[in-house]
Formats: sequence, C-alpha cells, structure tokens
Amino acid sequence: MLPFRQIHLDFHTHAAIAGIGADFDPQEFADTLVQARVNSINLFARCHHGYLYYKSTRFPQFQHPHLTRDLLREQIAACHARAIKTPIYVSVQWDALAAELHPEWLVRGTHGNVNVGAFNPGFYNFLCLNSPYANYLQDLVAEIMGTLPGDGFWFDILLPYDCACHHCRGQMLEQGLDPADEKVRRQFAKETLWRFKRDMSAFVRRRQPAGLLFYNAGHVGPTLRRELDAFTHLELESLPSGQWGYDHYPATVRYARTLGKETLGMTGKFHTAWGDFHSFKNPEALAFECFSMLAQTAKCCVGDQLHPRGRICPHTYELIGTVYREVEQREPWCAGAVAVADIGVLTPEEHGGDGAMDALPKVIKGAMRLLQELHQQFDILDSQADFRRYRVLILPDEIPVDAVLAEKITAYLAHGGALIASHRAGLDPAGGAFVLPLGVTYRGTAAHTPLFIKPRAAFAAGLPVTEHVMYETGTAVEAGAGTEILADNLAPYFNRTWQHFCSHRHAPSSGKIEGPAVVQTGRTIYFAQPIFTQYHKNAPRWCRTLMRNALERLLPQPALRIQAPPTLIATITRQPAHDRQLVHLLHYVPVRTNASLDIVDEVIPLHQLAVSVRADRPVATVRCVPELTDLLFTQAAGRVHFTVPTLRGYQIIEITERKP
Ligand SMILES: [Zn+2]
Repeated sequence: MLPFRQIHLDFHTHAAIAGIGADFDPQEFADTLVQARVNSINLFARCHHGYLYYKSTRFPQFQHPHLTRDLLREQIAACHARAIKTPIYVSVQWDALAAELHPEWLVRGTHGNVNVGAFNPGFYNFLCLNSPYANYLQDLVAEIMGTLPGDGFWFDILLPYDCACHHCRGQMLEQGLDPADEKVRRQFAKETLWRFKRDMSAFVRRRQPAGLLFYNAGHVGPTLRRELDAFTHLELESLPSGQWGYDHYPATVRYARTLGKETLGMTGKFHTAWGDFHSFKNPEALAFECFSMLAQTAKCCVGDQLHPRGRICPHTYELIGTVYREVEQREPWCAGAVAVADIGVLTPEEHGGDGAMDALPKVIKGAMRLLQELHQQFDILDSQADFRRYRVLILPDEIPVDAVLAEKITAYLAHGGALIASHRAGLDPAGGAFVLPLGVTYRGTAAHTPLFIKPRAAFAAGLPVTEHVMYETGTAVEAGAGTEILADNLAPYFNRTWQHFCSHRHAPSSGKIEGPAVVQTGRTIYFAQPIFTQYHKNAPRWCRTLMRNALERLLPQPALRIQAPPTLIATITRQPAHDRQLVHLLHYVPVRTNASLDIVDEVIPLHQLAVSVRADRPVATVRCVPELTDLLFTQAAGRVHFTVPTLRGYQIIEITERKP
C-alpha cells in the first residue's frame, strides 16, 4: 500500500552555490520527518540543473561541484533507519548541464533549437529522448540502482515535445512516417514518451521488481490509460497556489481514481509554488488540500525544497506535522476506501489533450464545479470506462460520439441507465447528426446569441418562469414526437452588430420562441446550450438550478443530500472490508483576495447540517470519526438521516451497517 504521508523534497541547486549538504545532520533530518509523521520522501539523485547529489564513480564530472558529502546515500540511510520510504528523483527532459555540454541532444523545432534563450534564467530547455541523451540517462539509473538502496524512481518532466532533430527525423522515416507533417511529429512524440516509459520500467524492474515507478508531467489524463503498466501508482501534481488553481486537483483525481491504480495528491508547502524558498502556506490551506486528498480516496504528498546547505527547515515540518498528525488519525477510515459515485461525466480530453497540465478542458472544470456545488457524487470518465457503475451519465457540451461509443451508451440506457447531454455532445464525429436517443434532431448552430432559456412550470423549481440569459452560442434542435419540452429558448430582437444593437450588451428577449432549450425523452435529458462551459466562464446560478432540476428527475435518490451552502464539499467513500460508508465534509473557502492566487484563510464553521445518505442495508451506528462521537439517526425508505452539529473545516462521519 502506498504510504499516506509523503514529502517531495525538491533540490535543484546551481553550481554557483557552495557548501552543498554542509549543514546536513542525518539525525536531525530523520527526526524532523518522524515528528512531522512523514512516512515516505522523494529524494534527489539528479536535479534540473543536471547535478548529482551522491558520490558517483561513473559520472563524477556531473556531481555538484560543491557537494560536500555523499548526501543522497546519507539521507536514504537516515530515513530507512526510521522506516521512511525513499523513492529517488531523477529529472528527465530538463537538465541544464547536459543541454550546455550537448546541445545536439536538445529537442529541435522546425526552425532550430527549441530554446528558452541563452540569457533567460532557468533550465527549461527540453532534451530529446531519441538522442544519445537517453543512453546517459539509462546508465545513470543503472548506477543508482547498483549503488543506492532507494525504493523506486520518481522520473520528472516527460512531455510530448514535437521534435525535428535528426534522430527523430531518421526514426520517423524508418517507420514510413512523414516528419514534415506536424501532426505526424506530435503523434510520434507521444509514442516516443510511451516507449521511453515502457523501456525504462522494464529496465528498472529487472533489478528492482518491488520499486515504485512514476513518470510526472504535472497532469494525469486519458493519454496515460494505455501506459498504465509502466506505473506502479499515479501522482497528481497540483499546487492550487501555482498554475493549477483549486479546480485542477478535484477534476483530475475524479478521473485518475477510475484507472485502477492507487492515487496520490501532491500539493506544496509554499505560499506560491515550487522554488518559493522561505515561504509558508497558510495552515488552513494545507489542511484543506491534504484532507481533500483523503476525501477523494487519494494519499497525501507535500512538496518542499531543501536548503542547499542541507539543513531541513524545522518550521516547515511543524506546519506539515500539524496536518499530517490529523491525516494519520483518519487513516483507519481511509485505507482501502473506494469512491461512491452516482454520476459519470465523460471528458473530451481524450480527443485532443496531450497530457500536459493545461490539457484539462474548461468544460470539465465547469462540470466539476457545478456538480461539486450540488453535492453530487461523481467520477470523470473516458470512453473506455465501465458505464454500468453509474446511475447517470453526463456528456458535457462537446463529446463526439462514434459508432462504438453510441452502441455502448445505447446498451447502458437499455439496462436502466440515464443520460444528460448538452450542446454538441452526442453528435457524430463529423458533427452532422445526433447518434444517441436524445429525442431531438440537429439543426446546426443556433441563429441567435445569446438565447434566453425559459423553464416551463414543471421544470422551474427554484426559478421564476421567465427568460434567463445563456451567453454562449448554443445548438438549434427540433424536438421529436413523444418528448417533453422542459424549457424553451426565446430569441433576442437581434444579434448585436454595428447595424443593430441595444444598450451596453445583448438585445433583450423579443418574446419569440426559437426552439426547445431542454428536452426530456424517457431517461435522457438534452440541453441545447453549452451549460457546463457557461458555468466555467461565469457561473450563473440558474445554470446550476436547471441542472439540479434535471438531476432530480433522473436521480431521485442521490447518494447524498445535505442542506449546506455550495462552498461545502461533500464526498462519500466506502470501505468494503468494514461494511461502512464514510461521508467526508469539507468547508474551506478559497478567496481571490489579491492579483494572482486564491487564499484559504480562517476556517468558517457550519452548524446543524442535516444530512441524508442512501443506505440499502440496515445501519447500526453513525459516528463522527476519529472522535468516535455517536450521532442520533433515523432510517427510512432506503436512507439514513442525521444532523452534524458543527463542522470546523473537515469532518468524517462513519455509517456502519448492521452485520447480517
Ligand atoms: Zn528529437
């Protein structure tokens, strides 16, 4: 089992800094980790600057010039003496030293080297894995395995850079491919990465069959599905105070956990992101980020960077320890847990993402937010997933459906499944016609932008029966016989152009109906507007209310109902070995108080939360854990009802079933 409390200890150190490791004290190092309850730490063999942090007999020229001791070996020994695991970090495509000594190993664009520029600070030039650099890398890994007792490898920076170097061109020609075609090069780059991972994992496993193996690109998406054999587990690098923001991790983990591997969330202790020396994340934020990992069936990792002189920062580990002690107390209710999910949301990422962190589609961020705020239980899926595990399938805005997927979804519906599709989701890959039984005929792009959605009385819970603007361009459809129109689209007087415009924005409603906006037929509901993209863009509450009303129809008995504000995050997991469900409640509120990042500050408690959980079997006890406080509950009609008196940040509620 993957350890729950991990550290990623960055150590990228320039040659101009002296005394590398001079202040390292093995006792202090390991004791500090133990006190912070750390049980695994990624330690550095080789950094982005290209330097080694152990005494190398094979590559002494690449040791950091001011390395004062056999640092990595001493770190590993100190950790192992306290049963702390030590995967070894090796930078792959960034290595400033190799790039300087061997410019012919660099990825080449069609106009020459892809370069960050000789006078820009940074080691961000990519190395080509089809160049002889790959041989150096393998020899290095062989030396590490032969001389250092690490617990596997953590390979960093593996991105599908389109390369036109003579090695890549030669290999493409050998395979009958046209290197002048950009699409071909991009695909070849993906194949190169996959082959590298396969070969490297096979190479490592021959000597270290039990070692951990992970390859990092800052994101886990559908491109990894076919590569899973090369990985022992999945790590989700996602520092909310860095480029990732607070939407990346929850959307990514809901996909990654469906792939059948243990997952680990990774944040940082920094106020911003990697390399932010002498900064501290607010403890409330670190707690939120680590507890979110537990709530989503993941283990925890916190990123830090060691000072070049090698002394571990006691204040950083006081901060991490306050959170990791709480993680440790909750592990009995997290080990072996699986997510309970009613809804599967298909991601369009498999149709265009390249696996990099910016590959997460906006529509998925919108769907994640919307469903999370409705306190729904959901996974994010690719087309290979097993749909029968879900009561409702959502195809958001832009999911093309080929014949194979159409057959799979139709079979899912025939077995009692339900479907929500929106905008262009459900069209064939050419975008000409719907290939799913949505009850509507495709008539192209809507003539007017925006349109105004007007719910009919039976679909208007929580909304006035009037027009609500939908800003994004939608789809024109005709409803077929036997369908129920739940909402109409009303047209504005005109689209805004230089010839006709009204006031500061769009023209108001003309009162004329321009086709249906929401249509139900059997167990499918279709929205003509890109409601999830809209929600990502500016989150109109009526979008969330309309989706809530649609889900009420298709999912009348959701896994969880809770009377709480949308800032509350609620998930349900299940520990099959203990016959119990766990409700995880989190209330931390990231606020954009400044120009660049969301801040989590003081915890805002919530009181008297009325919760109802679907429970098919008789319930024996409902308790707050790890406090072991019993809660009064009632059970009726397949649900258990109870009230949580106070939520201060994070609370797990255990619902144990009666033994049969
Ligand atoms: Zn190349």
